[in-house]
Amino acid sequence: MKELEEKILEEGIVLGPNILKVDSFLNQQIDSKLILKMGKAFAEYFKDKKIDKVLTVESSGIAPALATATELGVKCVFARKQQSLTTGDNVYHSSVYSFTKEVTNELIVSKNFLNEDENVLMIDDFLANGQAAKGMVALVRQAGANPAGLGIVIEKSFSDGRRVVEDMGIDLYSLARIKSLDDGKIEFVEE
Ligand code: 5GP
Repeated sequence: MKELEEKILEEGIVLGPNILKVDSFLNQQIDSKLILKMGKAFAEYFKDKKIDKVLTVESSGIAPALATATELGVKCVFARKQQSLTTGDNVYHSSVYSFTKEVTNELIVSKNFLNEDENVLMIDDFLANGQAAKGMVALVRQAGANPAGLGIVIEKSFSDGRRVVEDMGIDLYSLARIKSLDDGKIEFVEE
């Protein structure tokens, strides 16, 4: 997605050799118009998959997931990283090691919101080593639902994530694919 690549070049900040900070339009402040365009792009790519629901992980996945779900006319559900007082015991959960925070989070979603045989499109902000993706796939499979695809806003193609996702047999679509962040310079994969 050209507009996203331009935004990343304009506003992205490279932290060390492999972390990209995009707080100004995705991870804290949200560029609402750009997010809506992301939703349209994901919905267009996955339109033939008969998607019943969009699943993401709080918090940065919620905006692009909601935009996508709105375009597809389906509900959006997000996995929580911590049990809240209202969550209860009726939940699916999986463990995910967080790349940026260097901690293991439990992903939790109520059994009421993922149903057997539903086609679930998973959306996330970044793909690095594929751990969050694996966690979402585990939740979908626990529900007896079908992981119908994964939409990623920014893929770090120099990490293992794409291979991990493709090894699970999941259709992956990324809006921007970063080849390298070496020397603080952002380079995209040429499609
Ligand atoms: P993975 O689970 O694929 O290793 O990492 C994906 C998760 O880690 C995403 O949900 C995202 O929150 C976070 N993440 C990974 N790399 C980056 C990065 O370069 N920048 C930011 N802002 N988040 C990242």
